[in-house]
Amino acid sequence: MRDANRVPMIDCHEAARRLYRFVDRELSAREEAEVRLHLEACENCRMLFRFEDGLRRLVRNAAQKESAPASLRDRIRQVRLQ
Ligand SMILES: [Zn+2]
Repeated sequence: MRDANRVPMIDCHEAARRLYRFVDRELSAREEAEVRLHLEACENCRMLFRFEDGLRRLVRNAAQKESAPASLRDRIRQVRLQ
């Protein structure tokens, strides 16, 4: 029985193909929904995606710390001294 409203299931190959665009939030809403549906059903991909997502977050946090302007840091230091 086929339900036309159901999101079609994608396979592991297709999920892996969308991995990077998924963690970068570059997929369309429909593509993302398909990936999420696959992850609910597939433990292997879930672990892979979680790993990659965590990695991206680490890189992003590191980049933010790196780019905090010196002037901002000085201002924070001055506020603390007052
Ligand atoms: Zn899978």
